Amino acid sequence: MIKVNHVSKKYGSFTALHAIDLEIGDGEFIAVLGPSGCGKTTLLKLLAGFMGPTDGTISMDDTVLASTKHVLPPEKRNIGMVFQSFALWPHMTVAEHVKFPLSYHPNKVKEGRKELQARIDKVLKLVGLDALAERYPSELSGGQKQRVALARAIAPLPNLLLMDEPLSALDVELRMEMRKEIQKLHRETKASIVFVTHDQGEALAIADKIVVMNQGRIEQIAPPEVLYTRPETEFVATFVGKCNLVKGQWRGDQFVPTIDSDNVWHDLGVADSFKTSGIYPVRPEQFQLMTADSKGMQGVVSFVQYQGYEIHYTVEVGEATWTIHESVVATRFETGDVVGISLKNAPKQTGTIVSN
Ligand code: ATP
Repeated sequence: MIKVNHVSKKYGSFTALHAIDLEIGDGEFIAVLGPSGCGKTTLLKLLAGFMGPTDGTISMDDTVLASTKHVLPPEKRNIGMVFQSFALWPHMTVAEHVKFPLSYHPNKVKEGRKELQARIDKVLKLVGLDALAERYPSELSGGQKQRVALARAIAPLPNLLLMDEPLSALDVELRMEMRKEIQKLHRETKASIVFVTHDQGEALAIADKIVVMNQGRIEQIAPPEVLYTRPETEFVATFVGKCNLVKGQWRGDQFVPTIDSDNVWHDLGVADSFKTSGIYPVRPEQFQLMTADSKGMQGVVSFVQYQGYEIHYTVEVGEATWTIHESVVATRFETGDVVGISLKNAPKQTGTIVSN
């Protein structure tokens, strides 16, 4: 168990991390998600021991790894690291990359040459590079290079793997494939993983738990499904799942949008923080578009984008602009159409609210 306790980090007078608290359980797969500059890499560097905190402590089980007074250096920690840029050495073969950390890492192979070769073979097989052991980086594709970086990181059997945007240099198809490879590695090595990304789809797909960061602060920590269906802050609601933030009034579990008080929406699992601020975060696929003569709010379609599996509509509703995703089999609308809008899965209700 790794515990980040009230950790802040300043670069000169700029505070990159503000009093972060985080626990990484044994074998847990955590994604750190946030926009550029929110402090993801800073957090990773602190976890690795490349620098120390300005305030707070980082501990593993009962041992303090880093405080303002002392920082255990990376080579004395049982960690593996994978970077966006692969960071391979041009003069070393694939097998030599895997062998290298086994000679200095705290978890290095202490037995003989045979055991060392067995470990190298096992790791190369795990990442599917056993046939390419003697190749140099210049003779490998992007995906193969990233596999070498992964193999090098897991070779000493670290109990914590730190990954900084490891897939962002790869094309879309390869990224999808490598996501599965990383999930497989996680299953087989049982190491805890901290995976930094700015891609919400990647974080949702791969992690047990997502830490959403914004401007050096943690906005929410939750499993992917909870984060997506029940965001707790405006930032999380819009960054993960691109929610429309509809303004209105909450009365118990009923919501009356300001834009059209004839409509009443039921609470489909909105966090309490939105209820106090008079907002209903509605994901694009939670809305339903209907013909203008149906009940519901009225809006005008301003953009239509065909996406293959669904259609993305931009709809002007009074002063607001909403994004609405509909299935390709639903009724089609064109730019300029007047449409009715309601909330899917909600009991259809209009009229006066009975106050509770
Ligand atoms: P990206 O996704 O673009 O890599 P990030 O979320 O990883 O961003 P960090 O690299 O952790 O962000 O940087 C957080 C903030 O700290 C940024 O505003 C950055 O400019 C600043 N920063 C990072 N390193 C330093 C440094 N050595 N000196 C001064 N400021 C720094």
